Amino acid sequence: MKTNVSLVILPGDGIGPEVMDEVKKIMGWLEKNAGLSFEIWEDHVGGAAIDAYGVPVSDEAIERGKKADAVMLGAVGGPKWDDVDYAIRPEAGLLRLRKDLNLFANLRPAIVFDALVDASTLKREVVQGLDILIVRELTGGVYFGEPRGIEDLGNGERRGVNTQVYTTSEIRRVGRVAFDLARKRRNRVCSCEKGNVMESGRLWREEMTALHRESFSDVELTHMYADNCAMQLLRNPRQFDVIVTDNLFGDILSDEASMLTGSLGMLPSASLNDTGEAMYEPVHGSAPDIAGQGKANPMATILSFSMALRYSMNRGDLADVIETAARNVLNAGVRTGDIMAEGCTLASTSQMGDALIKELGQVLAKAA
Ligand code: NAD
Repeated sequence: MKTNVSLVILPGDGIGPEVMDEVKKIMGWLEKNAGLSFEIWEDHVGGAAIDAYGVPVSDEAIERGKKADAVMLGAVGGPKWDDVDYAIRPEAGLLRLRKDLNLFANLRPAIVFDALVDASTLKREVVQGLDILIVRELTGGVYFGEPRGIEDLGNGERRGVNTQVYTTSEIRRVGRVAFDLARKRRNRVCSCEKGNVMESGRLWREEMTALHRESFSDVELTHMYADNCAMQLLRNPRQFDVIVTDNLFGDILSDEASMLTGSLGMLPSASLNDTGEAMYEPVHGSAPDIAGQGKANPMATILSFSMALRYSMNRGDLADVIETAARNVLNAGVRTGDIMAEGCTLASTSQMGDALIKELGQVLAKAA
């Protein structure tokens, strides 16, 4: 169990700094009440870094991110930087962090909190109690495969090419992450590809099967074609525990799964590797339409921090405390505008953080 934690904090643009302020409040609370101490180094990222340094992430942030226990990121981007050179756009900072830290496994939980069950576009009986985790391969596949490009065929036609490519080790390392996580959950993994029409998908299935047989036979493994998985996520999402899939299918399936919960302001994510580097960030962007108005829901970032406690600091006990407190605050009807419902109390970003802090004390006292 870790007691001294080193963190790189990159609040970024738009609502990023506002929601990160609420995480800092929680860190302060944990220092006072749970014996944790944080060594924090903070820097700009995205548009803020372009303004400060001319690049969307500093070399120092990358180097420090590699050495820290975790990187916490807010959000990047906004209309102010829409016209900057493509190579140094705000999102390039995020991509460089993922690439330089070799964060090959992207974890996106989709959890439906009871108090928010009616925020989903799906029927209550389909999503109530939903708790699934998508593990997406993040640094390989068709987004990075060579050859790629657009060529002029000289006859009035052009040809666009991307290459889907995976190796044994790329498949197995993300498979290991998924199986390990399943062991801490409900012990089931569903691996998705399209091996019926793609050789890379056939290899994916063969390697997952072999890895399972060699090292994880205690975990239940099923296989599903990715198009069927897209359909099953809408038909009966609770059949899944952990879904593991490649970069392209994971991009699509994780967006679909996250929207089962109906609330962008509640969705955390983690990107990890097998040597300890990790970055935690909300799924949402910088929300320029509400930035600076105290309207942002800080829960997605707070729940991302809770994932950091669980996966990078081996403090699942404290992650449980934060997640229970978050559930209680929602049950008590405290809501930011994005999840507001009849009969609830509208809270600002900082009021939501304060309500959570108040609840943390109660939950910790009960847990003791
Ligand atoms: P967005 O996620 O920023 O916002 C979409 C909608 O959801 C907006 O109406 C916004 O107000 C609302 N919203 C988002 N987060 C919220 C929160 N925490 N609380 C309450 N409401 C919330 O997506 P967008 O509008 O398409 O993009 C805005 C900018 O963010 C763009 O520059 C985009 O490139 C960038 N972006 C960054 C990331 C990232 O940093 N990881 C992800 C997506 C988009």
